[in-house]
Amino acid sequence: GSHLAAPSAATSIPPITKIASNSNGPRVVGKVVIVTGANSILGIGRASAHQFAQNGARAVYICDYDDSNLAEHKREINAAWPGVDVHVRKFDAAAEEAVKAVVDDALARYGRLDVFFANAGIIGPLSKFTDVDADDFMEAFRVNTLGVFLAAKYAAPAMQKTSPEKPESSGSIIATASVAGLRSNAGPTPYSASKAAVISLAQTMAYQLVGTAIRVNVLCPGMIETGMTSPVFEAARARGTQGKIGQLNPLRRSGHADEIARVALFLGSDESSYVNGQAWAVDGGLSVGHPFVP
Ligand code: NAD
Repeated sequence: GSHLAAPSAATSIPPITKIASNSNGPRVVGKVVIVTGANSILGIGRASAHQFAQNGARAVYICDYDDSNLAEHKREINAAWPGVDVHVRKFDAAAEEAVKAVVDDALARYGRLDVFFANAGIIGPLSKFTDVDADDFMEAFRVNTLGVFLAAKYAAPAMQKTSPEKPESSGSIIATASVAGLRSNAGPTPYSASKAAVISLAQTMAYQLVGTAIRVNVLCPGMIETGMTSPVFEAARARGTQGKIGQLNPLRRSGHADEIARVALFLGSDESSYVNGQAWAVDGGLSVGHPFVP
């Protein structure tokens, strides 16, 4: 099957596009946070690591199987917010030992884990389902779905060991699905199905964590220009049709990684202490329906 190619490595790392936000927003003071899929320069993971670091996290683990930019991301975060421990981990989000090792490291160093943002994902094959290879189908489920399962499998027990002095802040597991997992009308089949499974997983896990104060929620981004989608944006720019990408969105634009990261921050913070088992579309209203164009 065909995959969207990763963008070529940039020579200098561009700043994250930020939309003005209220500086008195959610805080994650003292929290230990793991973010997967954090290598991509334009990605949701990197933008989220910035949000957690900027808003008081004690430590942020930035994890990715591609570690080509992670050291640079660490330098950047250290320079902007000194005092936050940044740990770089090259790992496969769907490899059980690797996921366990990063959780164990957080417990060993800090005695706590507060937030696991299972954000790593791949788009997988884009072809019509009749042309999708079984191996490519399974790879989408391995990274997108098994990756979330493993994150929660090891994060939840670690979060339960985290000091229970303030039960409302015991732990937050966040997974990135997609609007394609909510409504699969246009997404590639393995991608959409693997993301729908993430939503189901998160809801069943939230339920099974009854009696703990651990919350599990899902982010469902709409069309965001990141490493995953940049080929689409670049092709549209080359054709001069980039304006069309946001046209069917009620906000008439696509989104920025930072706009997903700020919701991840909220879900990781105690501000969302009563939000549990939810799949949140953060898509400018795209999933509600197309705007009426007379
Ligand atoms: P991205 O490609 O820029 O970032 C994804 C990151 O995940 C990359 O750094 C990649 O190296 C990493 N990754 C992939 N497989 C991995 C693995 N097995 N182990 C560890 N890391 C791995 O794309 P993004 O848009 O920032 O993607 C983040 C999440 O958002 C993904 O789960 C994606 O499916 C989801 N999402 C994105 C959009 C969008 O429009 N960009 C929309 C809906 C959902």
